[in-house]
Amino acid sequence: MLTDTHAHLFWESFEKDFDEMIQRTIEAGVTTIINVGTDLDSSRQALLQVQNELANFPKLTTYSSIGIHPHDAIKFIDEPEKQITDAVNKLENIYHLDPKKVVAVGECGLDFIFVSNPDFIPASIKAKAIKNSKLDIEKIKDLQKMLLKAQVDLAKKLNLPLLIHTREAWDEIFDLVTDHYGLFHCYSGDVATTQKVLRTNFLISFAATISYPKNESLRQIAKNLPLDRFVLETDCPFLPPQSKRGTRNEPNTVLEIGGLIAELKGTSLKEVACATSHNAKKLFKLT
Ligand SMILES: [Zn+2]
Repeated sequence: MLTDTHAHLFWESFEKDFDEMIQRTIEAGVTTIINVGTDLDSSRQALLQVQNELANFPKLTTYSSIGIHPHDAIKFIDEPEKQITDAVNKLENIYHLDPKKVVAVGECGLDFIFVSNPDFIPASIKAKAIKNSKLDIEKIKDLQKMLLKAQVDLAKKLNLPLLIHTREAWDEIFDLVTDHYGLFHCYSGDVATTQKVLRTNFLISFAATISYPKNESLRQIAKNLPLDRFVLETDCPFLPPQSKRGTRNEPNTVLEIGGLIAELKGTSLKEVACATSHNAKKLFKLT
């Protein structure tokens, strides 16, 4: 039994061979998937898939999440308070369509990669964020924080865990989320950050980035992390394992991530699969 705590099965690239892809997932021993929304549309779509196409596979149990990715924060630049409140109310409406299947708020978070690489902001909306011919970095950071805070409040209100995306924003993220609970998706923190995470009610979620040659320090962190503090994810169709770089990722590669972590810890795949599935079950209150 393996659990993929973070997949985007509504992605266009899965359309053409969806059933075969899910079949491969089941054959790899995956029993549970969280289908993660990244904006209003995909949060709706993720739930619809869980209720429809994915319900055709009795060996697989799937759930969805409701969230707006920090990259989208800039879309709320005109009237942030009103637009963010509106959007988060709409997320809540999606939850009420099927509270048994919507099990988390996210992915949401902070992503400050645009500071060093402004290409992460779509050209179509970048113009709005230009002040005195310079990208208004503080304004975008504030928008991301507002958007995250509204979603943390929603998670508290609905008593749901948070799926947190964070990049180049570790200092800021702790202040905003750690009085609640959830997981840090596609974990990339260093040793000091990991010590801080261990003092919160958050789990660490390892993706296949742990198989990339440059991530030796991440492998060391996994090796030393107690079995009850982490879960596994693929973030598919993104981030395939090293053995499949350059191809579309699928939920079945969670098997490879589990295998690598078992090897690092000198334990069996079965033990890692059971522990991480159990951790996910507890975090998402799956029945
Ligand atoms: Zn993702």
